[in-house]
Amino acid sequence: KPRLRVAPSPTGDPHVGTAYVSIFDLAFARQQGGSFILRIEDTDRTRFQADSEQQLYDTLHWLGLGWDEGPDKGGPFAPYKQSERLETYKPYAEQLLADGHAYLCWCSSERLAEMREMQQKTKQPTGYDRMCLGMTREERSKLPGFTETPVVRMLIPDDVPLEFDDLIMGRTKAPKPDDQVIVKADGYPTYHLAVVVDDHLMEITHVVRGQEWISSTPKHLLLFTWLGWQAPEFAHIPLLRDEKKAKISKRKSPWAKLTWFKDEGYVPEALVNFLALQGHPPIIEDDASEREVFSFEEFSKNFAWHKINPAGAVFNLDKLNWLNAHYIRELSEQDLTARLLPFLQRDGVLPENPSLPQFGRLGAIVPLIQTRINLLTEATPLVAPFFVDDDKLEIADDARKQLKESAPQVLDAAIAALEPISGAIGNPDGSGREWTADRLEEALRAAIVDGLGIKPRLAFGPIRTAISGQRISPPLFESMEILGKASTMRRLQALRD
Ligand code: ATP
Ligand code: GLU
Repeated sequence: KPRLRVAPSPTGDPHVGTAYVSIFDLAFARQQGGSFILRIEDTDRTRFQADSEQQLYDTLHWLGLGWDEGPDKGGPFAPYKQSERLETYKPYAEQLLADGHAYLCWCSSERLAEMREMQQKTKQPTGYDRMCLGMTREERSKLPGFTETPVVRMLIPDDVPLEFDDLIMGRTKAPKPDDQVIVKADGYPTYHLAVVVDDHLMEITHVVRGQEWISSTPKHLLLFTWLGWQAPEFAHIPLLRDEKKAKISKRKSPWAKLTWFKDEGYVPEALVNFLALQGHPPIIEDDASEREVFSFEEFSKNFAWHKINPAGAVFNLDKLNWLNAHYIRELSEQDLTARLLPFLQRDGVLPENPSLPQFGRLGAIVPLIQTRINLLTEATPLVAPFFVDDDKLEIADDARKQLKESAPQVLDAAIAALEPISGAIGNPDGSGREWTADRLEEALRAAIVDGLGIKPRLAFGPIRTAISGQRISPPLFESMEILGKASTMRRLQALRD
């Protein structure tokens, strides 16, 4: 049974690439009845950020990309966090030293910087110049640029194999590596040693990761060979790119961060569907048509490594927005209400613990806005007018500006037409109701469109502005029904005054 892992480093906001890779890992693992493992690669202490690990768990859970084994879950190969496995790596580094595949290096960082500068100036190939190779500590200590605590470097042979088979890229060639550090002066292994040891010990069968790691693969293959282990299969995923075809990066694009999508009001189903589509073709139906909207289960059944396009996809935010709107429309009203609530609370529209009437009102509004929002965050301006006191309703500048000369006349006519309608909301079965959207529409049309001969757009614009403070609102008559008679009349009168 295949075993796949995602191995993020907790170095800041979780990268969208981590979710991207996880989707392919998980699709294959589920299709084959295998396992998906989360391993935290936290050996780079200089880039470590404490909250990053929890954010990784939270965002991957939010996306529904659950793992079978991991630091928070345990499993047969625990611990799954590299900083808790330091003792595990030591004997392998010692073995590599004893076998002559690795050597100690005492060069100071200043000396290495000078060496690099010289190499660049004289246009020599860059990489460690092996000053320490074959020396004892004693011998080396007599030369300049010496530090007390050595690092361990791989001794890359001249005939290092540079080609390997990749499940996505096919036969792939990487550049020749230099003598990679595998144990740092602080005693921590580097990524390269830890990843190989852990992938072997955790019985990983497929290493799935971004194409940026292709140049590391020959080093890893050497380590597998030297340690007498069988290497896993490799699948290097094409990187997500921006419109300029550059790799999207957290420094340049907000959408390189997974938390951005959550905060912007994307639903996880849409993001997972979108990311799958960025690398993998749509599902082909029996009639040969393509389907771009699919569940994760459908994707997993359809998934194949060879179908992934080896050229990196341009991150298409329009497609994501389209998918998000689609998934929002598919949600049950109850589900959408539950997903909107945290945003409405964040934006101060609803309190921490809404009252029952507030819940009831929100439940009535949600069906009115479901087809009008593409992002969960877009609900706030549409919903806010229903939860603000009448005397605190602000009229947006653009809404006020578009009021025409006929506005006072329209508002007067509306007030007069609505006054006789009882504000009774009637029985739960709908009988005996007076203040209903249909009644209100009928009365307003008769008074303003028919009575005053004002076109519907001009007739209802001022009413919409009075009710919502906005140019765009949920359907007007339904909004007035939800708001009730007293509020509606007060708002009409306030704009008139
Ligand atoms: P930055 O985006 O600022 O360059 P980074 O590359 O240092 O950040 P990491 O935290 O190292 O980001 O990357 C996290 C994971 O996301 C890595 O596994 C990496 O392979 C993957 N990744 C990074 N950029 C992309 C991308 N453009 N497309 C797909 N995966 C990516
Ligand atoms: N820790 C590496 C990263 O942050 C893992 C790369 C790999 O999957 O081998 O991407």
